[in-house]
Amino acid sequence: MARMHNTVSKSQSMADRTVTVSRLEEVVSTSDEFDQVVSQALPMLLDRATSATKRFLRETGQWNDDIEHEKFALRWGSEYLERFLICGRTEVPCRPLFLLDSLVAKQHSKPDPFCYHPELLRPLGRFLDGLTARAVISRDALIALYRHCYGWGAGEVIAATGLNGLESQRIYKNFRRWRESGWQRTIDEMGMTEGELKELGNRQQRQTQRFNDEAERLIRVAQAHYRKSEPDHYPCLSRSQWGEMFAEGYGCDYRIWHLALCLDCMQTAWGLGSSGSAMGEKPRLELQVRP
Ligand SMILES: [Zn+2]
Repeated sequence: MARMHNTVSKSQSMADRTVTVSRLEEVVSTSDEFDQVVSQALPMLLDRATSATKRFLRETGQWNDDIEHEKFALRWGSEYLERFLICGRTEVPCRPLFLLDSLVAKQHSKPDPFCYHPELLRPLGRFLDGLTARAVISRDALIALYRHCYGWGAGEVIAATGLNGLESQRIYKNFRRWRESGWQRTIDEMGMTEGELKELGNRQQRQTQRFNDEAERLIRVAQAHYRKSEPDHYPCLSRSQWGEMFAEGYGCDYRIWHLALCLDCMQTAWGLGSSGSAMGEKPRLELQVRP
């Protein structure tokens, strides 16, 4: 019975999909109409932008069959979709599907199609970008973000994310592996030299406040970009939504993943994980270069 139901709903959703695709190929005349048609087809449009990005990577010899490349394509698919949602409203009348295709093709024909923020190419930016990039494919690096952003130890991560006993054990392991090898490996992958790391450390000592302010601004850029690796865990939540999740004890992966990659939600959800006890001031970025 369940299987039959699945089959029925599957063919139903395929029919819906066909309707949506053909609607997206037709002309929309107003920006409201654009919003309405497009909002009903977001997963399909994301899929289309992601597939085009994969195809581009394959054709230019930049593709590997691994999770890292899958996430890269997904992230850029989301990035293009967001730009499409903004620019499409001003491009009416248009055929949404073809507008998306041409926007993606235009991006891919640029000399450096994946350049998203020039400041992320300088040492501080490279460090933050490299760390965040690693976090979306490595759980150790994800947990290490709490350490590098806020200077926390395992106990503080567990309190802030409201984890139970079993999950807590994993956090300690994540910390240990990161210290033993993960950090060094990530630094090597970024191509950061010992000299550059020292220079970051020096700047931090000389102008602590300015350094942390700059790091906070850059990490927001990197976090917003890399959150798109996980569309299911992407949306920011309100204080009451976070509160419910903490109180009911669900969404463990969501909490760990999103809070590591969203400074704003970290501040919004602050204090919910510690069963009501005071946790001091809301966290601000205090960058730690070493593990
Ligand atoms: Zn958020």
